This record gives sequence, structure tokens and C-alpha cells, in this order.
Amino acid sequence: MEIMHNLYDELIGFMGLRSLLDMYQTGNYKALLTLNGILGAVSPVLPFLLVIEIIRAIVYKRFKIEDYRMPFFIFIINRVIGRFLSIAAVAFCIGVFEKYALFKTTFTWYWLIYGYIIWEFGHFLYHFWGHRVRLFWCLHATHHTPQSMNLSVSYAHFFLEGAYADCIRTTVCMLAGVNPPLLFFIMFIDGTWGGFIHAGENVVKDGRLGFLNRWILTPSHHRVHHAKNPLYMDTNFCNLLNIWDRVFGTFQHEVPNLPIEYGVSRDVNNRNFLDVYFGEFYYLALDVWKAPGLWNKVRYIFMPPGWSHTGAHKTAVVVRRAYLESLKQEQPIAAPQTTLYETAQQQTN
Ligand SMILES: [Zn+2]
Ligand SMILES: [Zn+2]
Repeated sequence: MEIMHNLYDELIGFMGLRSLLDMYQTGNYKALLTLNGILGAVSPVLPFLLVIEIIRAIVYKRFKIEDYRMPFFIFIINRVIGRFLSIAAVAFCIGVFEKYALFKTTFTWYWLIYGYIIWEFGHFLYHFWGHRVRLFWCLHATHHTPQSMNLSVSYAHFFLEGAYADCIRTTVCMLAGVNPPLLFFIMFIDGTWGGFIHAGENVVKDGRLGFLNRWILTPSHHRVHHAKNPLYMDTNFCNLLNIWDRVFGTFQHEVPNLPIEYGVSRDVNNRNFLDVYFGEFYYLALDVWKAPGLWNKVRYIFMPPGWSHTGAHKTAVVVRRAYLESLKQEQPIAAPQTTLYETAQQQTN
């Protein structure tokens, strides 16, 4: 019976139902005004969608255990410590930075719009640095190792990444005057949407979501973000509103005749937890060890992934630029046809 009880406990935990059950049993719904309560309320949404996604994949005979095994394993490893560290990071940053706010906001619809734009800026910063600073890439790369897209990918994170992300996002919000209850509400929307944009082709075949693709960041845009194709690398860093990608020139639509190849540029053994979880740390340590001189060693830590002290850089910016240059040379087969370069350029606007 002990085993059954433990299994029930694990299932309730995975489905994210524990906080809601506690609230229901005690009748204390005030928890919804706290960060822990909000995270508890959002947590059942994703597992529920994930179960639907897996059932659909099985029905349509497209279910592959490899697509789900590693994200689930990482979820089990992270399930306690990751969330605890995130909550601690948010509480710490509110405590330290709230008093330095430029001005104060309240919980109204117009401040919600303001707060969301600020939150997205914090999210853009954390995510951009997660791709462009090698040390932070070590924290973020685990999320990019899966070679297909499905909802379980949103669980695949290095355990320190949440705390790193929340430090930056919370600090930006506090300095810009976003009040904490408003911040928690924004986190609720962000958490729900941030999970949903990982919906794979089995549950949302066309991730563009119709007209929404013009206005917000859709699963299609996030699929592009997870791609290793040169055109798609290091684009679409936002989560729901893509204004900051448009402002900083990192916005990229999915190009119809360029199928997405998921994953990172290096060969990752997706069956090996150590490679998925610590691989980037290992290769960074190796580069630092081999680099001549202290200055080069330091630069390996803070320059973008692919930077080399020899000058033979293979960063995403270099690879993408070279790809676009090569497309410029491409001639259309027949006069009225547009080249892939032109399509790519149109899709960026
Ligand atoms: Zn990313
Ligand atoms: Zn993602």
C-alpha cells in the first residue's frame, strides 16, 4: 500500500494538483495572492495538455518514447530544487530592488499592459544573454537539446536556469515600478503561454495560429527559436509579445520552404543525461583550459558560444550572416520565382 500511496503522491505532484488540492481541502484561497499560490494554480495546465498531446501522438501512431524520455527525467531531477530556487530568487530581488523603483504602479488594466511590456523586456534580456554569453548558454542549452518539439520540452531546463531568469526579470520589473501582485499575475500568464508555445506538431500542426501570428509570439515562432538552421539561429527571444525582437532585429517568421531542424549545432547524445545536462559546461571548461593566456580564458566564459581566440568564429551571428550572403548569390530558376533569400527577408518584416 505504501507503494500505491507514493505513486499517487508522485502523480498528484506531476499533474501540479497538490497546491489546488490543499487550497480546496483547507478552503484557504488567499494563497492565490502569493507567488507560490499562482505557480500552484498554473501548474496543472501544462501536464493536462501534455497528456492530450501524448494521446494524440499514440492515436496517430507518431508517439516516439525518445521525444519524451529525457525531458521527463530532467523534470524528476529538477522538481523540488528548481522551483524552490526560483521562488527564493524572486523574493530576494523584490526585497532588494522594490525600494529603488522609479515610480509605483497599481493593479489596473493599463498598468498590466505596461507591466507586461517591461516583463517581456526582462525576459528578452535573460534569454538573449542565455544565447550570447557562453556561461549563461551553459545554463540554457539543456532546454535546446531536444530534437523534436512537444510540451515536455518546457520541462527540460538546467536546475539553475529558473533562478537566473527570475533574477533578471524580477529586477527589471521592480526597478520599473511593477508592483509584486501585478508581477505574479504576469508570471501566471507568462507561465501558461510559455508552456503552450512548446506544443508540438502532433497537437498544433500549424503553429502560426492564423492572424495571431502577425501580432503575438506563436508556437511557430518558438519552433523557429528552437531550430538550428542557420537562418533561424538566435531569433525570437520573446515569449508572448514580440515587440523586443522587432526592436532589436531578432524577429524571424517560419519560412514555408525551410523545414525546422530542432536541436543545437553540436552533436548531443540525447540518451545521455550527463551530455544533455552538463555537456556545455564540459566543453566550456575544455576551451578555457586550452586557451592561451588569462585574457583569452576569460573571454571564452563571456563571449558568445562559437567564439574562438583564433578568430575563426562560428557564432550564430557569423553563421547566419554567411548563410544570408550565400542565398544572395542564389539565382531564381525561373524569372517570376522569388529566391529563398527574398522569402527569408520578407518573413523577417
Ligand atoms: Zn532559447
Ligand atoms: Zn523553448
